[in-house]
Amino acid sequence: MNNIFPERFWKKVNVKGEDDCWEWTAGRFAISGYGAFWNGHINVGSHRVSWQLLHGDIPIGMQICHTCDNPPCVNPNHLFLGTAQDNSNDKWKKGRGSREPVNPNRQARGERCHTAKLTQNDVNEIRKVYAEKIMTTDMLAKEYGVTRKAIKDVIANRTWKSDKYIVPERWGIHNPIMRGK
Ligand SMILES: [Zn+2]
Repeated sequence: MNNIFPERFWKKVNVKGEDDCWEWTAGRFAISGYGAFWNGHINVGSHRVSWQLLHGDIPIGMQICHTCDNPPCVNPNHLFLGTAQDNSNDKWKKGRGSREPVNPNRQARGERCHTAKLTQNDVNEIRKVYAEKIMTTDMLAKEYGVTRKAIKDVIANRTWKSDKYIVPERWGIHNPIMRGK
């Protein structure tokens, strides 16, 4: 991460309370609305820089998502690592985004982390982890960056339907048996 100076970065951020959105005050990418930070070579998404300053390099194929759905926000508490979206990859392949500069440091237009798609691997893992009572639906929703309903649909076999999958018994804090534990 060359030429990125934390001080220069944070000067451009409207830092507020822990749970508030911290908006980028300098330039933004026109289409996505993400903050633009000049790293000495190119403009990169400021939300990505914020995450990198705290956690280090972003693993290849991963992107930085917002829990607040506010593109210029760089509050580290609102950012999480998400999987790259299939649909954005498709879009590039189909050439619909071909006039956009291809910049790996920038999220592609139309990418929406809050509706992050699950993969078959995610689904298998979610079902296993829930059945073994390791994580609740709330925890899983946060972990995978999807809604609780999406998790419940997966667990109840309403989405990603499989004949081989046996729907586990429901459990959680709302279940009286669990409350005793
Ligand atoms: Zn935010």
